[in-house]
Amino acid sequence: MSYRNLPNEHHYLHRIGWLRATVLGANDGIVSTASLIIGVAAASAGRSEIIIAGIAGLTAGAMSMAAGEFVSVSSQADTERADIETEKAALADFPIEEEQELADIYVARGLEPDLAKQVASQLSEKDALGAHVRDELGLTEAATAQPILAAISSAASFAAGAALPLIAAWLAPMDALNSIIATVSLLALALLGLASATAGGAGRIRAVARVVFWGAGAMIVTGLIGKLFGTVV
Ligand SMILES: [Zn+2]
Repeated sequence: MSYRNLPNEHHYLHRIGWLRATVLGANDGIVSTASLIIGVAAASAGRSEIIIAGIAGLTAGAMSMAAGEFVSVSSQADTERADIETEKAALADFPIEEEQELADIYVARGLEPDLAKQVASQLSEKDALGAHVRDELGLTEAATAQPILAAISSAASFAAGAALPLIAAWLAPMDALNSIIATVSLLALALLGLASATAGGAGRIRAVARVVFWGAGAMIVTGLIGKLFGTVV
């Protein structure tokens, strides 16, 4: 089947890197801050304690997201770099074996051995390292890990998500605080799930149901625990 005849076919994979970090960050920000605020409020705290808890949760969460994302993406980048260095050395020391290795990969993917050899030889002539990085290691430019960018974007999206229940906690009347925070947060989670499913080309209903289910679960559990400890402590 020729994809050249399908000019409007969209590909989503290149968007998954930043999309994943941004959506995860915002999701986490909404769920953890809303749950935190609901838990503190359920323990019958006043508004200023609730707001302080929310701000502390936002800050701690954003920093923790940045640190976690930086560490995980850095180690991924280190692995990628080391793999590329190994490949570079192998190409310098064993060019013939490396070209044969490339040809074997194309045979495994379905090319005739002669054609595979031709493809491997021509690609190696143009950019041997590029061909090995792509076809042997499976790395593309879009997938190349960027730790600082990942850290900043997940911290910023966590803070943006966390700001929502925090603003609701600040503005809502005290007697309906928890139900308003839960409603605002679940609505935002649903919209976020819908947006990310649309951008990522995935099933919308399932994506929305998933984030709403886990978000509601987190808020209910934290609320119950807050109520429990609020009467005991
Ligand atoms: Zn190789």
